[in-house]
Amino acid sequence: MLNYVSDRVRLLNQAPARAAADYVLYWAQINRRLDSNHGLAFAIQTANQLGLPVLVYEGLTCAHPWANDRFHRFILDGVPHNGARAAELGLGYVFYNRRSKRDPNDVLYRLAANAAVVVTDDFPGYMAQTYNASVPAKIGIPYYVVDSSCIVPMALLAKQEYAAYTIRPKITRLLEEHLHPVEPVSVKRPWTGPLPELPATSGANDVDPTVAPSPKFRGGRKAALQRLHDFLEDGLRRYARDNREPTAHATSQLSPYLHFGHISSLEIALAVHEHAKEHKLIVPEFLEQLIVRRELAFNFALRGPNPHKLAALPEWAQATLAKHDKDKRETRYTRDQFEQARTHDALWNGTQHELLRDGIIHGYHRMYWGKKIIEWSASHQEALETMIYLHDRYALDGRDPNTYTNILWCFGLHDRPWTERPIFGMIRYMNLAGMQRKTKVQAYIESQLTGSLL
Ligand SMILES: Cc1cc2nc3c(=O)[nH]c(=O)nc-3n(C[C@H](O)[C@H](O)[C@H](O)COP(=O)(O)OP(=O)(O)OC[C@H]3O[C@@H](n4cnc5c(N)ncnc54)[C@H](O)[C@@H]3O)c2cc1C
Repeated sequence: MLNYVSDRVRLLNQAPARAAADYVLYWAQINRRLDSNHGLAFAIQTANQLGLPVLVYEGLTCAHPWANDRFHRFILDGVPHNGARAAELGLGYVFYNRRSKRDPNDVLYRLAANAAVVVTDDFPGYMAQTYNASVPAKIGIPYYVVDSSCIVPMALLAKQEYAAYTIRPKITRLLEEHLHPVEPVSVKRPWTGPLPELPATSGANDVDPTVAPSPKFRGGRKAALQRLHDFLEDGLRRYARDNREPTAHATSQLSPYLHFGHISSLEIALAVHEHAKEHKLIVPEFLEQLIVRRELAFNFALRGPNPHKLAALPEWAQATLAKHDKDKRETRYTRDQFEQARTHDALWNGTQHELLRDGIIHGYHRMYWGKKIIEWSASHQEALETMIYLHDRYALDGRDPNTYTNILWCFGLHDRPWTERPIFGMIRYMNLAGMQRKTKVQAYIESQLTGSLL
C-alpha cells in the first residue's frame, strides 16, 4: 500500500496506534545511525506528538542469507557508538544479536507489543524490502517506512529512469530543495528508567566464520566519520584526476558505510560542498557518483525489474547478448575458479583477492572484473549469477541497490551500444591492454603481492 505521509514517509498498513503505549519504536534496519537520519527524526516527531519517548532497536541476525563474520563484525563495531549517542539524545536503545537459529526471532514483535507505532527504513532491496513487505500486516500498529537513503526522495522519481542523462536533470532540479541537513528534533520526553528486557540467547553460533572480518575496514559511525575526514583532507582535491587510478587511493571508500547506514549520502554531500567552498575546489565528479549514479541505482532497485535476470536489461542489450550467448569462449572458468582467483590474469586475480580479503574492489577495477567474468563464463546468465554471488558473499558494500545495478551495467544497463564483437555483442568491452594504458597495472599487482594496499 502506498499511503504517502510526505515525500519521504509512507504508512504501510492501516492499524490503529496503541493507546496505552510506552514508546514509539524506531527500528534501525538499514540506517544504523542516530544522526542525519530522517527516519529517526520522524519517529521523534511522532513520539513528541503522542507525549512518548523513543526506543531505538538495532538487531543482527544469523538468519539472513549471507550472515558471516565479516558483515557482522562491521555492524557490531558500530553498536557502542550508537548506544552512547542514544543516551546523549535521550533515546532508549536496545541491540539484539541473534547468533543462532535457536535464539528467539520475534524481538521486533516483543518490542512492538508496547509501542504506539513502528517507524523503520524504506530501502528497495535485500532484507528490508522483504520485512517491509511482510511485517506491516502482522504488527497490529501503524508501520511507517522512511526514505533516508537518498538525497532526493525516491518517491519523487515516479518512473524507471533510462540512464544517468535522463535522471540527472530531474535530480539537479530537485536538489536545492533537498540538500539540507536533517532538521534535528529534540525529544520532549527523554527515555528514563530501565530498558525493555530482551530474551536470552542460546550461546550457539550459526554465523558463517569462513568469510573473515576485513583487515582494512572497521565498521561504525566513528570509522565512517574518520574516513570522510581523511577523504576531505586528502582525496577530494585529487578525485577528478585520480579516481580511475586505483593505486592513487583518491576515492572516498565510503561505500561500506553508506551500505550499512553508518553515514548518509546527504551528510557526505553537505560536508563535501562545505569543504569545496572553503578550499575553492570544484567537485562535480564526486557529486555525480554520490548523488546521480547512486540515486539512479536506487531508482532502478525501486522501479525496475528483478535484477537477477538478464531480462532486466534494456531491449537492445538483451537482443545483442542473446545473439552472442553461444559464441565460443576461448577461455572459460567456473564459479569456483573465479571465487578462488585462479584465472590466467594477474590483474583480475589481484582484484578478486582484494574482494576476498578486504571486502572491496576499486570502482574502475570492478568494471574490468565484471567484464572479464562475462568474457570467461559459459553463458551470460552464468556470468551474472557469479558476479552477484561474489558480491553478496564478500563485498562489504554488496547486497545494495548499487550492487545489482552496477553488475547489470556490465551487461549494458544505463549504458549505450558500442561496436559489435564476439561474446559481448554491442555491450561495452574492456581489455588488459586498455587497463595497462590507463592505469598502473604492474604497480597495482606488486602492491597486492606485498600487501601494501592494506
Ligand atoms: C561490477 C560492479 C559492481 C559494483 N558493486 C557495488 C556495490 O556492491 N556497492 C556499491 O556501493 N557500489 C558498487 N559499484 C559501484 C562503484 O564501483 C562503487 O560504488 C565505488 O567503487 C565505491 O567506492 P568509493 O566509496 O571509494 O567510491 P567514490 O568514488 O568515492 O564515490 C562515492 C560514492 O558514490 C557512489 N558511487 C560511486 N560510483 C558509483 C557508481 N558507478 N554507481 C553508483 N554509485 C556510485 C557510492 O555510493 C560511493 O561510495 C559496483 C560497480 C561495478 C562496476
